[in-house]
Amino acid sequence: ATPTSIMAGSGRSAEFGILFKGGEHLESMHRVETVILDKTGTVTKGKPELTDVRIEGMEEAAALMLIGSAEKQSEHPLAEAIVAGIAARGITLASAAHFEAIPGYGVRAIVEGKEVLVGTRKLMLRENIDFGQADKTMERYESEGKTAMLAAVDSAFIGIVAVADTIKETSKDAVAALQKMGIEVIMITGDNKRTASAIADKVGIKHVLAEVLPEGKADEVKRLQAQGKKVAMVGDGINDAPALATADVGIAIGTGTDIAMEAADVTLMRGDLTSIVSAIMMSRKTMANIK
Ligand code: ADP
Ligand code: MG
Repeated sequence: ATPTSIMAGSGRSAEFGILFKGGEHLESMHRVETVILDKTGTVTKGKPELTDVRIEGMEEAAALMLIGSAEKQSEHPLAEAIVAGIAARGITLASAAHFEAIPGYGVRAIVEGKEVLVGTRKLMLRENIDFGQADKTMERYESEGKTAMLAAVDSAFIGIVAVADTIKETSKDAVAALQKMGIEVIMITGDNKRTASAIADKVGIKHVLAEVLPEGKADEVKRLQAQGKKVAMVGDGINDAPALATADVGIAIGTGTDIAMEAADVTLMRGDLTSIVSAIMMSRKTMANIK
């Protein structure tokens, strides 16, 4: 590869908001056969909003106060959505005496002397909390593409909160363009299968890896590489960093976390997935000029 053409390619990419950490990444980009897209903050805007609240066996305002107070210390986008939605209902939150994030599962906190849990079915199963008929309601929210979370207070199930995230306007076009280029597109998420499939359907993604724990994302990249594939991973979160570092090309969304950008080889300043299409085209063109 001639340094001049690589430099020209990198310069042109920068005009599109695509920042390569080094010329070698512009080169490796043209070999990419599989693109893995993180769901939250990558395919979607990552700014979910609280859409549904279903409390049982407790007064709603009191329950929401406990849930919101437990989530207040979490930096997860889901937590921010829950806290903002509860605050918008005029409920004043308390500060938790103890807080623990359980990555991939949810949160545990002590609020006003009560133990509050908010998170996935697996979190409730792990803690032996019976959520009775809530599964049906949860499934309905999930098939609408919402992320539903279960809440418990002092080991008793108290209800469901659901949030919805908006898909980025350009995600569907970007997926279609990548597929047209012969690239396999896979979506990966810690979120449940039903929600993930509903979102994937809306953007035309056929392969979904759901309920992947944070440390499992890098393993999925390795598994595809073991099949001989050149893999690009696209993500924005702290939990995407190991997968970004493992992939043949790690691509961070510029609106995401610094940790993701540090782990990646490329940063998309516009957070728009059509930039990936431009980057691969640019790489293919650059390499064609060289050969
Ligand atoms: P993603 O890959 O979509 O960022 P995570 O691995 O961070 O997902 O989280 C997986 C699941 O764990 C979420 O869909 C949610 O159900 C649950 N979860 C994570 N953080 C929280 C939280 N702060 N409050 C409630 N549930 C949470
Ligand atoms: Mg994300």
